[in-house]
Amino acid sequence: MKILILNCGSSSIKFQLRDARDEKLLCKGLIERIGEAQGAIVVSTDGKKLESNEILPNHAAALDQMIHLLTSPKLGVMENLSEITAVGHRVVHGGEAYSDSVLIDDKAIETIDKLSDLAPLHNPPNLKGIMACREVLPGVPQVAVFDTAFHQTMPPVAYMYALPRELYEKYKIRRYGFHGTSHRYVHRRARALAELENKPSKIITAHLGNGCSITAIKDGNVIDTSMGFTPLEGLVMGTRSGDVDPSLPLLLFERGLSRKEVSDILQKKSGLLGLTGGKSNDMRYILEHYEALDEPLTRIALDVFCYRLKKYIGAYAAALGGLDVLVFTGGIGENADLIRTKTCEGLKFMGIEIDPKRNKEGSRKESLISTNACNAKVFVIPTDEELVIAEETVRLVKPAPVLKT
Ligand code: ADP
Repeated sequence: MKILILNCGSSSIKFQLRDARDEKLLCKGLIERIGEAQGAIVVSTDGKKLESNEILPNHAAALDQMIHLLTSPKLGVMENLSEITAVGHRVVHGGEAYSDSVLIDDKAIETIDKLSDLAPLHNPPNLKGIMACREVLPGVPQVAVFDTAFHQTMPPVAYMYALPRELYEKYKIRRYGFHGTSHRYVHRRARALAELENKPSKIITAHLGNGCSITAIKDGNVIDTSMGFTPLEGLVMGTRSGDVDPSLPLLLFERGLSRKEVSDILQKKSGLLGLTGGKSNDMRYILEHYEALDEPLTRIALDVFCYRLKKYIGAYAAALGGLDVLVFTGGIGENADLIRTKTCEGLKFMGIEIDPKRNKEGSRKESLISTNACNAKVFVIPTDEELVIAEETVRLVKPAPVLKT
């Protein structure tokens, strides 16, 4: 009994196979270059790795080839396709329709398709993956776990933009938030680690990867998050600007730039990449060159990144009316002790104080990195979105217990 977990992009698919009984990871992999002249699939277990470079004309062909690798005796994770009892999909946008995961049927497919208006780059490839599974694994139940669902508890005061009301009514223009599955996972772990399960709690979770977002969660419910109508709003990211004056795109249009050029600037050329003058969007590079006098732009990039994050922490502590726990996760949050130090510098007044030794040793594993004296606990918690997707899939697919009469 195995669960296949899929994160489908337009030309790539990230996948994992997990045991349905305990959600233990059996293998994971990546499919790339779907629809191109040569495809690529890599799948690996703890000790073994298999690769294929067949042409993958579409998502169904890619899944077919992936299953061929998964059932290979060389990998040794499963013997045949019938062992896959359910598929869990990461779906980016659930709009206002979904505050929870859903067992996929024709109605769910129609709704996810309609929501493509809100996430034109993400929902269509997510749907392609769902349709491909129907073809390659007919009859196998599928579950959609939405990036936006955890944030649906946000109150109107946090999700309404101060724009003409009809934009919300006609086009559902409001703040939705993303990375919900990651925030949900680390929040759950933080509550357990801080012994706040089933108790009132004020928690801020910062997911810092290529995309970055921060969420305020009160007593288990999201009350605010930094990404908005799209994943462009909020923190400084690898190549995305985060918050800017909304009149800037208008100015660029007036200067003659096209919609695509402006979109590329905000989505692909800004953030750390923009601040470093195009040098790098990779935090590892920025950290390596932080002190180098020959690259002063890496210093400003890192400082702007941490300063924006610090401002959001302050704002969210105010929204929560205090703070019990702050969590760092994502590739940057889990690995970069200097980012954690700089972000929390000067926040002792609000109960946040990093212990330098704990912080230095605290990367890449669940660790408490704050001092014992301060009020708020600060944790590093490696995220595991796929675990949540597997759990949700098992939860929704499990047949209802037969009632004894
Ligand atoms: P994604 O959002 O695509 O899932 P990740 O969560 O893997 O991305 O985060 C990618 C970011 O994490 C990159 O900026 C990368 O430089 C950074 N990162 C990864 N490892 C380290 C490290 N050891 N130290 C600092 N930053 C790191």
